[in-house]
Amino acid sequence: MSGLMQDWPLTLDRILEHAQRWHGDREIVTRSIEGPITRCGYADIHRRARQMSNALLDLGIRPGERVATLAFNTSRHLEAWYAIMGAGGVCHTLNPRLFIEQLVYIVNHAQDQVLLADTVCVPLLRAILPRCPGVRQVILLTDEAHMPADFEALAYESWIGRYGADCKWGGFSEESPAGLCYTSGTTGEPKGVMYSHRSNYLHMLLSVMPDILGISARDTVLAIVPMFHANAWGLAFAVPAVGARFVLPGACLDGASVYELLEKESVTIAAGVPTVWQGLLQHVEREGLRFSSLRRIICGGSACPESLLRAYQQRYGIEVRHAWGMTEMSPIGTLNPPASLDELALKPGRVPCGIDMTLVDDDGRPVPFDGRTFGRLKVRGHSVVRRYFRREDEELLDADGYFDTGDIATIDPAGFLQITDRAKDVIKSGGEWISSIEIENAAVAHAKAALAAVVGVPDAKWGERPLLLVQLKSGVTATPQEFLQHLEGRIPRWWMPATVEFVEAIPLGATGKVDKKVLRAQRAEAAEAGSKVDVAAGPSPGKLR
Ligand code: ADP
Repeated sequence: MSGLMQDWPLTLDRILEHAQRWHGDREIVTRSIEGPITRCGYADIHRRARQMSNALLDLGIRPGERVATLAFNTSRHLEAWYAIMGAGGVCHTLNPRLFIEQLVYIVNHAQDQVLLADTVCVPLLRAILPRCPGVRQVILLTDEAHMPADFEALAYESWIGRYGADCKWGGFSEESPAGLCYTSGTTGEPKGVMYSHRSNYLHMLLSVMPDILGISARDTVLAIVPMFHANAWGLAFAVPAVGARFVLPGACLDGASVYELLEKESVTIAAGVPTVWQGLLQHVEREGLRFSSLRRIICGGSACPESLLRAYQQRYGIEVRHAWGMTEMSPIGTLNPPASLDELALKPGRVPCGIDMTLVDDDGRPVPFDGRTFGRLKVRGHSVVRRYFRREDEELLDADGYFDTGDIATIDPAGFLQITDRAKDVIKSGGEWISSIEIENAAVAHAKAALAAVVGVPDAKWGERPLLLVQLKSGVTATPQEFLQHLEGRIPRWWMPATVEFVEAIPLGATGKVDKKVLRAQRAEAAEAGSKVDVAAGPSPGKLR
């Protein structure tokens, strides 16, 4: 016998249907690619998205076919998500910060049929399209007046303008594919994660929980995390679902532009990666500014340094929630709301109901949740990947249904996760693991540091020793000894970097994270040029306490 409740497939079109019906006038504010700030309501987004669904159906898009977007966070991009998914297509978000080779690979691998792009991405399109023969139509997310000369594409506004808004959405199984997002390839060849309507719908319910994003109809939410990165942390579903006001920053993510939007639009909650918060902080400090409406920051994607948490909470009274997740998890894994502004969410927190995690050693045996023992982090749940797209013959899960995240972590007795490294970045010294992330966090707390990164370097005696690379704030100078002294007492003695080097700029990858692959290559070059400063190696490695 089954339960006797209604059949209500969890398809994503229902979210925007709900928003337009019950929060139709609630505003979506966009810093448009053309420049001006634009405003509309959920009812407008809903109407225009349905026009676009009709336009896509007319182009011959069939259920499950991929429609790609190469675009920043704007209301048009939001319309495109719902238009594609509502009509049964798969919205494939492309990251414009990827290398051309990666984009070509991804577009061809995904078999994208139609591509919607911002006009600022036209140079990129010119480079990739000749090598992507499967793309049969390109649409630029603008109006006729802003179309570039000598580029063959349709203008979004006149394209959707030809169609009515009468369109039947949904009506398919909640297991149908809805969104496709490739991992950025920082850990190898890009791999496609195919979200279903159901997985994204359940992820939306999980994400709005009070201890996760905790957003409500009274909030104004700024999504700095791009819609082309990791499913935009689910914000394109969570914000309309609760009827919150939505602010979309377009392509301007520098400190000054973000600050202006925060203040002018009275934003209460904003989400982005640590580098964005660093940039904003530097701007605010330089200009001597204050925040008048911002209540909460969601900081995830890479470890949130203590100095950042401290500055926002203690200096500006803004709660910082530290998040961990990954594309393969839709992407929320854990979140950590501090109990008060005096408490810093140093660890990215606990899992919400719907996600389960475990830690194992190299032999696959569970390790204790004692907050000290490192293990490989594995996860399972309703919004966790089962197979990669078009690699369906590869088994990703273990016998208990867990997916190996590739992260090394500890979990404390209260269930709080701490990521210590990606497995490929972990430094093995004298047979023990050193956490590059913890050294980076300690180093970046130095008043002169803008960014810090730690990589392992070969060592005849210990196997590997940590190398600390520091990007100093502009206009300051420092010595390696200053940094080593600063680290004393902040990290175990045997983790002390063997070498400290100052670099002009620490390279960031396509998702705003430190790119250790590039860093290692740069460092090898610098070593050859003889610019490194060696200091005494730290004391002998021992057990982690
Ligand atoms: P990519 O692999 O394309 O960079 P993801 O955004 O999916 O894309 O990256 C997920 C990875 O980012 C995680 O596996 C983890 O290594 C890292 N990460 C995310 N959040 C945190 C965090 N709070 N602390 C440390 N590492 C994090």
